[in-house]
Amino acid sequence: MNETMFCSFPRPSRSACPGINVSFEFFPPKTEEMEATLWDSIKRLAPLGPSFVSVTYGAGGSTRERTHATVARIVRETDVKPAAHLTCVAASRDEIDRIVKGYWDVGVRHIVALRGDPKDGVGTKFHPHPEGYEHSAALVAGIRKVADFEVSVSTYPEGHPESASVEADIDVLKGKIDAGATRAITQFFFENSSYLRFLDKVRDRGIDIPIVPGIVPVQNFKATTAFARKAGASIPQWLADRFEGLDDDPTTRRLIAATVAAEQVLDLVDHGIKDFHFYTMNRADLVYAICHLLGLRPKLEQKAA
Ligand code: FAD
Repeated sequence: MNETMFCSFPRPSRSACPGINVSFEFFPPKTEEMEATLWDSIKRLAPLGPSFVSVTYGAGGSTRERTHATVARIVRETDVKPAAHLTCVAASRDEIDRIVKGYWDVGVRHIVALRGDPKDGVGTKFHPHPEGYEHSAALVAGIRKVADFEVSVSTYPEGHPESASVEADIDVLKGKIDAGATRAITQFFFENSSYLRFLDKVRDRGIDIPIVPGIVPVQNFKATTAFARKAGASIPQWLADRFEGLDDDPTTRRLIAATVAAEQVLDLVDHGIKDFHFYTMNRADLVYAICHLLGLRPKLEQKAA
């Protein structure tokens, strides 16, 4: 592309990026100190007007009460719409239905429905609870039966660790949509081409719901690499190279993390992507800066300011 073409086709990310929607994912805090960090982050990010903020559900249902308490506090104390993550693991259908009803009763209207990891860890066989929902599509259908929830689900541009093929993953996604899901959030990825190729395949199958890219700012490269290994996300060599030699240099690491995430998100905007889900790790500053680059500014009238 020559310079004149650049002038006549400016990068969309260089303008005010109209129509950008963001959502933020948090995890329920374990300690009072973590709780304070989480709430500082929610209060910093809420004025940016996210479509929703979601709260994860610990492996094996281990954070059931903490997830509920965090989501309920978001309803009480902020104007943002919360989404509660929920998995099929270690609970009967009746127990899960009761949790879902409990969410409806406190004013939650959006659930992120997941199967959850096998009890013995990623890579082992998933055994549903004998009286439980057997997979995520069944959970989506169960939630929709309890009440008129908005249901989001996961999807994996680079394949779920258990999946036989991308085609099989798209079949799984289709099953979840047929059961009532209206949005998919992707596992994080660093090669935008993987996501864009996956998106083309999904659209070719006639699936038209939003497939929202999950973006993880690399707050900690070693932890991200370990997590990626389990999650079905690859760490490209160029990413490792960018963090090389920075183990003892947190300041540069943070600048690199911001640069990498900005580059990824702005490239996606240039490819026409307008919805983004940020895995915040309960920290606001990197995500806030990226949202600023996307043209989002605080709305002063928010309750949680
Ligand atoms: P699924 O859609 O259930 O697919 C996973 C695999 O299960 C498929 O590849 C396929 O092999 C098999 N499968 C699915 N459906 C069928 C079917 N109908 N028949 C046969 N086989 C089937 N985990 C948590 O514990 N808590 C969370 O809060 C959480 N949040 C997440 C949020 C996002 C956006 C993402 C991407 C993942 C999240 N996870 C969470 C991780 C997730 O629980 C694991 O990756 C889990 O192993 C798969 O659950 P799933 O719903 O993502 O995948």
